[in-house]
Order: sequence, then structure tokens, then C-alpha cells
Amino acid sequence: MFKNCRVVGCGRPARAATGDGLDTRLCRSHAEHNARHGSPYRGSYTAKELAPHRRRAEQWIADNIEDIWVKNALERIATLYTTAGPYEEAYRLRGKSPQERSKIAWARLRKAKIDPRMVLQARLAIELITICDPTAEKKAEFKVVQAAKLVHRMASGTHKRWGEGASAKELHAYPRSRGNVLRHIGYQLEAATELVVANCKLLSVDK
Ligand SMILES: [Zn+2]
Repeated sequence: MFKNCRVVGCGRPARAATGDGLDTRLCRSHAEHNARHGSPYRGSYTAKELAPHRRRAEQWIADNIEDIWVKNALERIATLYTTAGPYEEAYRLRGKSPQERSKIAWARLRKAKIDPRMVLQARLAIELITICDPTAEKKAEFKVVQAAKLVHRMASGTHKRWGEGASAKELHAYPRSRGNVLRHIGYQLEAATELVVANCKLLSVDK
């Protein structure tokens, strides 16, 4: 049966899913965009766009560190770390399923000693930016993927620095986060933080 890509105005034929996280209702280009960003057409938020929202989330977590839902979310994120199984070097990821890769991503956070507060901060920052952005993609999957991208980046990649002071050169290379891995990470994070998101005053004031 012939079908067109469901993105309005695209008109290209929809393709059968051939790879990771691709959507059969979309053309190849929109399917790839959807896999990487969680929306067929909407791009990811930049670090600069996110910075003020991350600061607000960080402050709110610090002010509410004794809150029952904050504690609950931080414990559940820590549980994702401890139940993730063994850490694997990046070069050993070949051939592993998205689910296995998502567990390794949590194990990587554990090994890098990333504070669970940073993970919760990323989740809340995405919630805040989509509330404040009138043109934001509202579907849940977009937020899930956007938060997962931030988390995936926290403990991955190669970071090098040469030289000293103002003339120092830095290289930051990140492995490309694949669509299905991001969805696994994102939905696990969603489940771990759903109660704090539902009860967070910072979010209800803005709504
Ligand atoms: Zn398309």
C-alpha cells in the first residue's frame, strides 16, 4: 500500500523501517530526524537555550532536597545506576541491543560518579523549557528523547585538552546516540521521575 510521509507538506513516500528507531510512517529523512531528536521536524534544544532552565532546576532541587518526591526520584535514579549491570568500554558496544546499550549508559554514569541530582536536573530542565517555549513540541516522546540526550552525554565521549590558559585547545567528541537507546534511557528516566514532575511546584506555577 502506498503511503506518504505524515509530515505536513513533505510529500515523500514513507519508508519501511530499516534501522534503529525509524518510524514507518515517515520518509527516510524525517524518520532519521525523529530517531535522533524525538520529533520528525523539531530540532534539539541547544546547551545555551537550556542553561537558564538547568540553573532554575538546580536551585529548585537544592531548595527542596528534603522533599519526599525529590528524595524518591533521586533514589530511583540511583537504583537505575546500581541495577544496570557491568560497565563496558565504548568499543565493546558493537552488536549489543538498544536495551543492553541503555543499561551500559546507566552503568557509565555510575562509574563516572555522576550525581543523580544532575540527572534529575536535566529532566526538570526539559520540562521547564517546553513549558516556557510556546512553539515547543508537546508530545511526550520529544521530552523523553531530549532528556535522554542530556543524560547520555553526561558520561560519554572523549574529552581532550592541550596547552594551558587562553590558548588551550579542547576536543569534545561524543558517540552518536542512537534513537532506540535514547528511548530506553528516556522512558526509564520518565518512570523514575514521574512523581516529582507531577508534584513539582516549579512546574505547576509555570503551567
Ligand atoms: Zn518526510
